[in-house]
This record gives sequence, C-alpha cells and structure tokens, in this order.
Amino acid sequence: MEQMQRVISKIMDCQRCRLWKDAKNAVPGEGSLNTPLLFVGEGPGYWEDIKGRPFVGKAGEQLDDLLSDIDLNRDEVYITNVVKHRPPNNRDPKQDEIDLCTPYLEEQIKIIKPKLIITLGRHSTKLLLSKIDIKVTGITKIRGKIFEGELYGLRIKIMPTFHPAAVLYNPSYISALKDDFKHIRSELNKT
Ligand code: URA
Repeated sequence: MEQMQRVISKIMDCQRCRLWKDAKNAVPGEGSLNTPLLFVGEGPGYWEDIKGRPFVGKAGEQLDDLLSDIDLNRDEVYITNVVKHRPPNNRDPKQDEIDLCTPYLEEQIKIIKPKLIITLGRHSTKLLLSKIDIKVTGITKIRGKIFEGELYGLRIKIMPTFHPAAVLYNPSYISALKDDFKHIRSELNKT
C-alpha cells in the first residue's frame, strides 16, 4: 500500500533523534496491512539492526513460536517497534527518542487500523496505554488484560504482555506469555 510505503521511506531517511547515527539500518516494521492484529515491541536489537527487519533474533524466534502455537504466522500480522532505529548496546530508548519516533507508529496504526494491539514489554505498553489515559506502574499486574479505548480516532483494544526476550532471562515467563497468546486467539475469533 502506497501510504505505508511513504511512512517507511520517511523512517528510512529519519534523522529526527540521535539513534540513526549508530544504527546500520532503520527497522520500520513488516507484515500484513490487512490484519486485525498489530504487535509493538520496544526497538531493534543487534540482528534487527543488521537485517532491517523486526524480531529476527532470539526474541523473534520466541515470538514466531508463540504465534505458531495459536496458528498464526508473521505474514498474517503486522510487527513493529516504538523506536525504529537500534538504541546503542540495546539500552532503553530515551523519552525524547520515543517522543520523536511515535508519530511513525501513529501513522502505521492509522493505516493498518488494527482491532487489537499487543504491546510487548513495558515501553510499548506504557506508551500506548497512556494514549488511552491508563497509567502503567508495572506490567506484571496488567499483562493479559484487554484495555479498550479510542486511539488516534479508532476504537481499539490493547493487550499488554511480556516482551518475548524476557523469557530468555526468566524462563518462568513462558507460561504467562502462552496464556496471553491464547487470549489473543480467543479475541481474534471474535473479530
Ligand atoms: N526486541 C524488540 O523490542 N524489537 C525487535 O524488533 C527485536 C527485539
């Protein structure tokens, strides 16, 4: 779709914040534009920066497995991040970087018009829930819950879950993630 191509071109040339300087590639996002389901991670890591694609490293393998458990593959959903260039050494994105990059995510959401957004980890959760006036203090209590509101003029459900990379550090998170993905499946079955 032309509209998304325009956003992607802008992201490719983006120098709004400092992150482009150390990055090898921008990582705009990819997947179906005709999908009810949008996944939003934090920002590109090592492999994403090299390949210019979201979730293609270890966290991506985890995400692919979680999707396949609910009979989905990545071509059927759209996957992107809060920031589109890799923060050096995978540090957390800074607030000004998030603020400067959010207009791209906003444009992507308006183009895709998803019914359900899955926020992977605390950065995307905090960002998108704040847009529907929900303040996040911690992800553990709210993961797997559906929050509904008007986001950029669209009626959208948002479900936070753990970042798939969290499982790599804390394997006990896998059962929560699997439960949350089952919840995604049941929500999709309603659409
Ligand atoms: N972690 C993220 O948040 N996004 C990616 O694209 C890869 C790893």
